[in-house]
Amino acid sequence: MKMTFWGAASTTTGSLHLLEHHGKKIALDCGLFQGRRAEYFTRNKEFPCDPSEVSTLILSHAHIDHTGNVPNFVKQGFKGDIICTHATADLVRLLLLDSAHIQEKDIQFVNKKRARRKEPPLEPLYTIEDAEQCLDMFVGAGYYRPMVVDEELTIKFLDAGHILGSSQIQVDLAKGDGAEPHRLVYSGDIGRSKRVILRNPETPSEVDTLIMESTYGSRESPPFDNLKDDLRDLVNRVAERGGKIIVPAFSVGRTQQIVYQLNVLFNEEAIPRIPIYVDSPLSTNVTAVFRQHPECFNRQTRELLQTDDDVFGFDTLTYIRSVEESIELNKRKGPFMVISASGMCEAGRILHHLRNAIGNPNNCILICGYQAEHTLGRRLVEKQKEVRIFGETHELKAEVKVLNGFSGHADKEELREYAFRVEERSGGRLRKIYLVHGEEEARKDLAEWINTHLKARAILPQRGESFDIN
Ligand SMILES: [Zn+2]
Ligand SMILES: [Zn+2]
Repeated sequence: MKMTFWGAASTTTGSLHLLEHHGKKIALDCGLFQGRRAEYFTRNKEFPCDPSEVSTLILSHAHIDHTGNVPNFVKQGFKGDIICTHATADLVRLLLLDSAHIQEKDIQFVNKKRARRKEPPLEPLYTIEDAEQCLDMFVGAGYYRPMVVDEELTIKFLDAGHILGSSQIQVDLAKGDGAEPHRLVYSGDIGRSKRVILRNPETPSEVDTLIMESTYGSRESPPFDNLKDDLRDLVNRVAERGGKIIVPAFSVGRTQQIVYQLNVLFNEEAIPRIPIYVDSPLSTNVTAVFRQHPECFNRQTRELLQTDDDVFGFDTLTYIRSVEESIELNKRKGPFMVISASGMCEAGRILHHLRNAIGNPNNCILICGYQAEHTLGRRLVEKQKEVRIFGETHELKAEVKVLNGFSGHADKEELREYAFRVEERSGGRLRKIYLVHGEEEARKDLAEWINTHLKARAILPQRGESFDIN
């Protein structure tokens, strides 16, 4: 068996790993590479392998950095099955259509600029029509159900505890042609333990080769325990002064976690019953998918469902779809809370809410996710005195509160613990751990720890590097 790492090698985006055995090619993930614009187009448009030669595509979870280039893969000749968990298939449907919509909008903007410079227009990476084309090719599977890909290769999805439907892909290669049976596990993105809604990441066993993510290989995240208390204190504080709480949040995971926590706090009568609005059509649709997949929930959430039939809804919560209703919110007096996309404040309805709320010290902007450099979200976290929204300068007078504990990624300690437990459960079989999905510093830190504390050796594949696996 041969493994080639085509994406997310020394970076975190554009996951694409190619497995070859007996002339057959199987791809693990097909994500969008995110980076500078020029590189973004070429890297995503040109596949290093011919998609028409790949027989099966297996997806670890719905995030765009793992699935966002599927429409392009299909457009360029891939005809096989796209296998993932049921919840992932449902989420991917929403996310790919949303991504295609963004691609189309984005290229209109680029082409306007190009026209001014008398340059020919560019095509979008893919269109909504392209995204719709690939939706029929999805094959959903339950967790733990062995799926026979071909006579020698079986796969199984284990829970990764990262987002709804997220999985680790276990690949079992049968004995044949003098080769021993071999178990390869691709971790996908590994979540954190003891979170609300989702189960803890599982530990695969009897593993020969592990391909593992390393996003936070050198970073610690704060524990969850404080999160609920911090949220409680914040809501009480801002409600008392009659302010608005504006929450930029990612549509998958973050929004549902906050709603779930608020629901618990309301049930416990720990916070006043202020109106809460989820103002994002995508978040609203994604929450509907959450409701359809209780098989992905942890025991605590399933138990809660026995007494509270909707853990993502309560009487003061309104899901908003129309633009008119969204605009109406700006006229409302506080206290209330708006949870809206995008998560890094780069586009979408959140910008109107921020513009409206930013100048009043009674209001609060609650940041609960990673904010990349050069984004408005980052400027808010840095508490810059003035920020620009829609081309106008605004003085930042509102309170800015950062709650980091919502992260969906295992931190440094949790990644180490995961690698340790996989080795422990593999009875000396685990020999190599390939580290992907991490910036260079993060994966080097993790590699050093593995090489010092475990018997298995850490390998840091470069983009395009191939390895014999057996
Ligand atoms: Zn992810
Ligand atoms: Zn990822």
